[in-house]
Amino acid sequence: MTASVNPGGDVAVLVAAAGSGLRLGPGPPKALRLLRGEPLLVHAVRRLLGCPEVGCVVVAAPPGHEERVRELVGQGVAVVSGGAHRRASVVAALAAVPERFGIVLVHDAARALTPPAQVAVVAAAVRAGHDAVIPVLPVVDTITRVGPAGEVLGTLDRSGLRAVQTPQGFRRAVLTAAHTAAPGPAATDDAGLVERLGVRVHTVPGSELALKITTPLDLAAAELLLGA
Ligand code: C5P
Repeated sequence: MTASVNPGGDVAVLVAAAGSGLRLGPGPPKALRLLRGEPLLVHAVRRLLGCPEVGCVVVAAPPGHEERVRELVGQGVAVVSGGAHRRASVVAALAAVPERFGIVLVHDAARALTPPAQVAVVAAAVRAGHDAVIPVLPVVDTITRVGPAGEVLGTLDRSGLRAVQTPQGFRRAVLTAAHTAAPGPAATDDAGLVERLGVRVHTVPGSELALKITTPLDLAAAELLLGA
């Protein structure tokens, strides 16, 4: 990988890349699966470094694959061993961020095609004074809650719902506090933890390019998007 960390950047980005990718079917950990011949992680990191504000990137690698990840991302990008859960991977990566970075973004390697502009918008909103920022898209499906027997418990008003993407941006102290707080019910993202502190979370528009590559169909869609 030829891109390098931007020396003047004041934003650190943690990349959660330690997932196994079981839903993609048998194969290497998800971040190392190939998309047009390059691992998802390489696509993700290249786009992060394409944002001039990004001065530090820390990747939480799948345990056992740290050396391979170091070779892939090149010098300047820090690599730590990921944990058993996403939250543990984020905590491990956060510990490796130098003190001088007051704005920390958390990104999923699985959102490999997230444009640098989305990274910049999230970082700018934190710099403008928001403690926590998430990119969101409107929800296209009707969403309903179901009970144990599959029965409908209640359909939600779609107009007030949003799908949440990454990178999510935080004032560093807020992210640290969220991850230091006692673990409650499992949270699927960092802003969910921050909400529990009573901190207000701001939204910015997300991008369809920031889709989360989870299934073989997502991988096929990403191939198409990359070619377009
Ligand atoms: O499992 P899920 O799809 O929610 O994973 C979201 C992101 O978190 C992925 O990029 C995955 O690599 C990462 N992850 C991690 N450590 C884990 C589990 C998931 O970094 N133990």
